Amino acid sequence: MPDYVIAPRPQPALPVQGSNALFPVGRIFCVGRNYAEHAIEMGSDPTREPPFYFAKPADAVLTGGADMPYPAATKELHHEMELVVAIGAGGVDIAQGDALQHVWGYCAGLDMTRRDLQNAAKKTGRPWDMGKGFDHSAPMGALVPAGTFDPTKGKIQLNVNGQLRQVSDLSKMIWSVAEVIANLSSLVRLQPGDLIMTGTPENVAAVGKGDLLEGFVEGVGEVRTRIA
Ligand code: MN
Repeated sequence: MPDYVIAPRPQPALPVQGSNALFPVGRIFCVGRNYAEHAIEMGSDPTREPPFYFAKPADAVLTGGADMPYPAATKELHHEMELVVAIGAGGVDIAQGDALQHVWGYCAGLDMTRRDLQNAAKKTGRPWDMGKGFDHSAPMGALVPAGTFDPTKGKIQLNVNGQLRQVSDLSKMIWSVAEVIANLSSLVRLQPGDLIMTGTPENVAAVGKGDLLEGFVEGVGEVRTRIA
């Protein structure tokens, strides 16, 4: 054990479905505009431009159905329901055909967004970090081992207060999970523990204190949080 000058922080981790074991989280990469209908609602052209990425800190993960405190400095907290990919085996320049063998598992997640701050950053050409990478901005459900799950299809849905808010299918991703892993690993060396949030379908919208968010990805599981 090194002699740290301050106490090291606890390791952020995700629960694993049906197990007491934990998945240690390294980095959280997020794909921007990966469903055409969401790209259109954000005022972008959904033609197949190369994928682009932003990141959240590892300790943004919020697990176990815990409440999400309404964040500071925003009047427009948006939900983005997403499939999350957990990398179990790292690599660089991973071939698309090998990409899914690098996946340890999947979970349902929410890329919570301070949309007003993100929009202000877009206008001024500044980074998105404070719109995307704030505390507790990544509620996630339990991880399910990859097994035979096929991430090229399956319903993805978010209910707010029991009302349907977002619904789509993983088949509508512009860049598939395998393509994202191949592309991202050409930019950075993926490491075991990295998470990839694969983008949201359309109908993102604001939530407020007291709202209950319940998301679901077919074949993967659920994510749940209440805004407190
Ligand atoms: Mn997103």
